[in-house]
Amino acid sequence: MRRISIFGATGSIGQNTIDLIARDRDAYQVVALSGGRNIACLARDALRLNAVVAVTAHEDLLEDLRAALAGSNVEAAAGEAALTEAASRPADWVMSAIVGAAGLPPGLAALEQGATLALANKETLVAAGPLVMQAARDSGSTILPVDSEHSAVFQALVGEDLAAVERVVLTASGGAFRDRPLKTLHSATPAEAATHPNWDMGQRITIDSASMFNKALEVIEAREYFGLDPNQIEVLIHPESTIHALVGFNDGAMMAHLGAPDMRHAIGYALHWPDRRALPVARLDLAKLGQLTFSAPDTARYPALDLARQVMQRGGLAGAAFNAAKERALDGFIAGRIGFMQMAEVVGEVLDRLDARSGHIDAAFSLDNILQMDHLARSEADNVMARRQQ
Ligand code: NDP
Ligand code: MG
Repeated sequence: MRRISIFGATGSIGQNTIDLIARDRDAYQVVALSGGRNIACLARDALRLNAVVAVTAHEDLLEDLRAALAGSNVEAAAGEAALTEAASRPADWVMSAIVGAAGLPPGLAALEQGATLALANKETLVAAGPLVMQAARDSGSTILPVDSEHSAVFQALVGEDLAAVERVVLTASGGAFRDRPLKTLHSATPAEAATHPNWDMGQRITIDSASMFNKALEVIEAREYFGLDPNQIEVLIHPESTIHALVGFNDGAMMAHLGAPDMRHAIGYALHWPDRRALPVARLDLAKLGQLTFSAPDTARYPALDLARQVMQRGGLAGAAFNAAKERALDGFIAGRIGFMQMAEVVGEVLDRLDARSGHIDAAFSLDNILQMDHLARSEADNVMARRQQ
């Protein structure tokens, strides 16, 4: 039996992972499941999958979790240290699907203990790419991309030589506001931004799709994962979300990965890799689809894409700063403190301010320094937003 753990089990990716596991229950022994505030869901799945341990990120919810698991053999644990401890428990395959930088320490712990890491948490690579890739090399463990675009590129590269890759094209739906007049975007609400034309995902990544901060993170994620030069990574608007990514080779050929917009494909590919097995996802009917359309993204509408380029050019801990500032700006937008278009302004200002402070962004790539930079960028973002509100 394969031992597996799922971090972020109560979220959109976590639930899709559990859907696949539950269909083949006898093949897996579930070691750890983690959640945040959704204790009912965490306890229900821990009980039905007979997990060894269930962990909530929030210490104040430990008693609730204990009560929900009473009478069972499932251990209850809570807090950040407990998440990392659970990730250090031996497992063969670990899904990293916490949202935000909070996913980094457990993901790193899973790699250090030698598990194969199925990585949905793109923030891990954005904030700590070199550290995480080195941890995988040191322990001999494998990182498998779960982000659909990166899974698509990974699949298109099977049997290929990375040296023959000229470019990678990540597609983007354009999000909720693709066709909304630019001048009305300042008044866009979080509820409007949290609807995605094609994918059913968590609230935060859906808003990040409308602003294309999600694609900005993915460009950096692709650079870190595949070791590409920033100018080899392109973004293409493709409203149908049928092609997930394309890889262009030095002989002019392009390989495209197509599929229905269902995350169980990328999750299932990572679960069964290096095999390809049957998955319960819809099959494409291209005749019915009729046509696929493409356009270049407008950087005035999606300023986050330019910020990603700046971050890659800047290097060092700029990725950690970018991700943290983005998370705080997104909190600010959801809370109604700043407008939709102001998220990119806030993030840009934080990056400029941190860049002006010598030493911070160029500090060595250690987990401590990354977490410190994360903290610093969050408080800078709070300062910038507070000043804007005055
Ligand atoms: P959701 O918001 O649906 O779920 C997030 C999960 O993380 C939940 O289990 C949540 O717990 C938990 N969580 C939230 N905050 C914390 C915290 N501070 N510490 C520990 N756990 C926490 O997110 P998604 O499933 O949409 O996304 C998960 C990750 O996968 C993200 O990094 C996202 O970018 C990436 N991804 C998602 C895709 C998708 O289709 N959804 C596609 C590609 C990538 P609870 O809900 O119990 O509070
Ligand atoms: Mg994606």
